[in-house]
Amino acid sequence: MRRETVFAAELAWPDYQAAVEKGATPMLIPIGSMEQHGHHMPLHVDVLLPTEFARRVAETAGGLVAPPFTYGYKSHQKSGGGNHLPGTTSLDGATLVAALKNVLCAFAQHGVRRFVLFNGHYENSWFLVEAIDLALKELRWEGISDAKIVLLSYWDFVTEETIKQLYPEGFPGWAVEHGGVLETSLMLALYPELVDLARAVDHPPASFPPYEVYPVKPEWTPPSGTLSSPKAASREKGAILLEVCTNGIVQALKAEFT
Ligand SMILES: [Zn+2]
Repeated sequence: MRRETVFAAELAWPDYQAAVEKGATPMLIPIGSMEQHGHHMPLHVDVLLPTEFARRVAETAGGLVAPPFTYGYKSHQKSGGGNHLPGTTSLDGATLVAALKNVLCAFAQHGVRRFVLFNGHYENSWFLVEAIDLALKELRWEGISDAKIVLLSYWDFVTEETIKQLYPEGFPGWAVEHGGVLETSLMLALYPELVDLARAVDHPPASFPPYEVYPVKPEWTPPSGTLSSPKAASREKGAILLEVCTNGIVQALKAEFT
């Protein structure tokens, strides 16, 4: 007897078909990256976190979770440490756009009409918009004009109130949160076995000049690879973030899909 699952790829095709053919079941697609996240966390933080948010949302509000995109667009020095760092393994923008466009169109051909893209890697942002635009255009040529795609990044659902609660000493800004309190707290709450806080490097938030240079100057990135200190991260903060963001996303999808 097969167990109940929200993961699309764990279904046999007739069950998948029954779930999607009428178009009402949203397809939740986590989109991450393989990117260094400091000495204390694994390379797949940006995949693990949006996948878990998608799973929680699917369990609460319905929907299927698609296999995640496990590689993403190139790490940017000011938001992810840079693409030059060991372990960071990225796609060209055009590759990501083409792959996501293909996947969106294929799901739509199966009957899916509601999509939610769960972005877990800041640098993906505009490439996801481009893939959405091209997919909707291609679908219209095929006569499918009723697809709706919601694009979100879970950190945008962290409320001002939560920020005050989580960063009593001041919020460094999302751009330098790479490997910092947000991601580390979420990982501690969800995958403590993959985090080693003893190896976390404590340092002030990275500061960059108001311009960029290519090839990048590696010395601009803190040697740890994180852009702010994860020292104040905790399981409890992770639990708060999980709840606030999951609730916010569920509300947003209710508003968009009913
Ligand atoms: Zn990350």
